[in-house]
Amino acid sequence: MTLRILLNLSPDYRALWHQPLASALADAGVSAELCDRPGGPVDYVVHAPNGPVQDFSTLPGLRAVLNIWAGVDKVLHNPTLDVPLARMVDPGLTEAMVEYVTAHVLRHHIGMDRDIANPGHDWVQRPVPLARERPVGILGLGVLGAACARALSALNFPVTGWSRSPKTLPGVASFAGEAGLHKVLSRAQMLVALLPETPATTEILNARTLAMLPRGAFVINPGRGPLIDDTALLAALDSGQIAHATLDVFRSEPLPKAHPYWAHPKVTVTPHAAADTRALTAVPVIVENIRRDQAGEPLLHRVDRDLGY
Ligand code: NAP
Repeated sequence: MTLRILLNLSPDYRALWHQPLASALADAGVSAELCDRPGGPVDYVVHAPNGPVQDFSTLPGLRAVLNIWAGVDKVLHNPTLDVPLARMVDPGLTEAMVEYVTAHVLRHHIGMDRDIANPGHDWVQRPVPLARERPVGILGLGVLGAACARALSALNFPVTGWSRSPKTLPGVASFAGEAGLHKVLSRAQMLVALLPETPATTEILNARTLAMLPRGAFVINPGRGPLIDDTALLAALDSGQIAHATLDVFRSEPLPKAHPYWAHPKVTVTPHAAADTRALTAVPVIVENIRRDQAGEPLLHRVDRDLGY
């Protein structure tokens, strides 16, 4: 039997994915036809939320949607989605997120901005604390949060993490629940948000929780824009409660030109570029999920609709 797989991707991604996916399926002994447009039955959709097809009901025979993004907030609530949905866990994406988070933590920790923007050419030597003296908090200890926690812990940062269910990660103090959130926030001089966007995590960083951070803390958000109450963050930046925010994700993307974040001297905007999915490392995950489904085995990284991630 030949499977029909719809590559529901933007044209630039389709160009990057088509050949590696076709080769990997052939290598795995899976007979498949890759199509770029719907029309007739389709077994699987390799899906990006910005792909052209948004109505899954037009795809008879569909068995599963295989998202190429780690976050599923843009597809989970699609009313035409009535088949299993898998999110992407891509080793390349994880590596990229570790690099992004580590880079921005080290940047703020060492205070690199002072030396990069030094218009007066001032020669001022300042003491820099060691990583061991700079507690980092990570909200979300899933695939990405745990990988960042391990990397930062290896650099000697005292890392505290928060997740829905408690975790056991070597060298990382892990907490759950409302009391746990308070513990993590109250000691985090750097806070990294790597939670999914769900009803339970929306605006988890608000006036009340931002006030729990030590004064002058740094916020790094590569998770999702709605995790933050933007008005509260801007107020906390202006009052000095938050020293700087590095933001990769926003409620509205691209971030509108008039948004106050662009011009704010204490905000760094990156264009949702912390960690992209790479065909090289993600294609094997897609192929393995197709193989598993065809063999009657459960999908890897299947999304729990009740939890929303
Ligand atoms: P994941 O493996 O599903 O991990 C999610 C983590 O969040 C888990 O530890 C989970 O707790 C925790 N969590 C979820 N809801 C919670 C709640 N209500 N209270 C406390 N903890 C909660 O996801 P991931 O692969 O690490 O990705 C995380 C997010 O990163 C994605 O959803 C996406 O939004 C974002 N992302 C951004 C980029 C980018 O380029 N900016 C790239 C990829 C991903 P449990 O462990 O107890 O389940």
